[in-house]
Order: sequence, then C-alpha cells, then structure tokens
Amino acid sequence: MIFDAHTHIHFPAYNKDRNEVIKRAQAAGVKMITVGTNFKTSQGAIAIAEKYPDDIWATVGCHPNDLENFNVEEFRHLANHKKVIAIGECGLDYYRLNNLSTSDVDRIKEKQKHVFLEQVKLANELNKPLMIHCRPSKGANDAYEDLIKIYDQSNFKVPATNHFFVGSLNVAQKFLDRDFYLTFGGAITFARDYDEVIRFYPLERILLETDAPYVAPVPYRGQRNEPAYVMEVAKKLAEIKNLSLNKVIKQTTKNIFKSFSVSGY
Ligand SMILES: [Zn+2]
Repeated sequence: MIFDAHTHIHFPAYNKDRNEVIKRAQAAGVKMITVGTNFKTSQGAIAIAEKYPDDIWATVGCHPNDLENFNVEEFRHLANHKKVIAIGECGLDYYRLNNLSTSDVDRIKEKQKHVFLEQVKLANELNKPLMIHCRPSKGANDAYEDLIKIYDQSNFKVPATNHFFVGSLNVAQKFLDRDFYLTFGGAITFARDYDEVIRFYPLERILLETDAPYVAPVPYRGQRNEPAYVMEVAKKLAEIKNLSLNKVIKQTTKNIFKSFSVSGY
C-alpha cells in the first residue's frame, strides 16, 4: 500500500475516465486523499470518497486563490462528514500578486490570512488536521514566514501538512520545529531545487503526493498526472535520501495514519 496524500481525482480532468484512473491506482496499491479547493469541489471530493470507501478519503476547504464566496458555515457542515479527514487545502498564495498595486496586494493578503485563520479555527474545533497550501512570491519565503506567524499566534494543535513544499532549508527547520508534515510530488523527479530539503527533512515527517491532474512526474512529464504515478515520486525520494524504495513506501504510509484519521484499517 502506498498513499497519494494530495490529489484531485474529483476534478473535471477525469470526468471522461475517472473509474479507469481509479482502477489503475487500485491495481498499483495506491490509496489517496482527494482535496477540495472551494465549496463545490469539496462536495465533489466527498462524493468520490463515498463511492470508494476503501481507497479514497476527502478534505474540504477553501484555497487561497478561490476566496470569493467563502462562508465558514458551509464548510462546517461538510467537514462533519465521516469521510472528511482534514480541512484544506487552505493557506496563503503570494505567487500571483506580482503585478498588482501595493494596496491591492495588502488587501488580498489580509483576506487570505482571514480566510485561512477561519479554517484553522474550524480544524481546531472539529479536531481535524490541516492540509495547507502555501506558495511564496517568486524567489522568496514570504508566505511561509506569514504562515508560521499565524500558526504561532493561533496556537492550533491539530497536525499540519504543508503540501508541495518549495521553501528554503531555514523555513523547513521552522516547520520541523512545529512538527509539520511536508509533501513532495512530481517536481522532485525533474527539478533538483528540492534535494537539499528532502535530504534534511526526516522521513517520519514526509508524505508523497501527485497533486494530480497537475505536475506529472518523469516519465509522464507534460501529460495529465494521476494517482498511480505516485510510485515515481517514491522512487525519486528514495534515491535522493539514499534509502530503499520499500522503506520510503512503508514509512510514508505509516505517516498518513499518524497525521490523518484514515479509518478502515
Ligand atoms: Zn492541490
């Protein structure tokens, strides 16, 4: 068994052949957490998780680039569902704010922080872990620094997973001090920017992801990604950390059970 900790199998990219894609994952022994990004996609995530009770779990949340109609009450209702094992993806995304005026940037950042904090509170209240999306502006670690500030001020106690980590070694150390789990995905198979952090971060705090349909790993690069390809991420991670593939698969699966209440096993 191997876990894709962050995927979007309920997205329209799979509308034509979703059952086949899931069958390929099942054949490869891949279980998955399918991640909501707004109210509608969170409902979609739950619907698929209900349909495949032994293989798929859901998260519900509001992505920082999708804040328009955020209403925490709607998410509270969804989050109580038994297949919902985390709140998210939620967090901060400063990557696309480059060409805006300073006042617009400030306004958007404040809104993102507010919506994130609402979801942190909800996670605390329901005692469900957080699936965090945090993307700094190009070449910076600004969003991570702000995330850590919010974490420290809000004193939340639920486990936190930061998906698709792209931060510096210094930020990784801060995340480790706060017991964060980090996920790594397809990008590690074709970019060497992550090697240093991967070698540094303990395997006991690492999860594997595809983020499908995005960022397919080598040898599928440029194609639509799918959960079965998480095996390629595992292989690369094993190579970078100089560990056996078996050890990486076993430990990252163990980490899923520690960080999320994946029931049925
Ligand atoms: Zn995602």
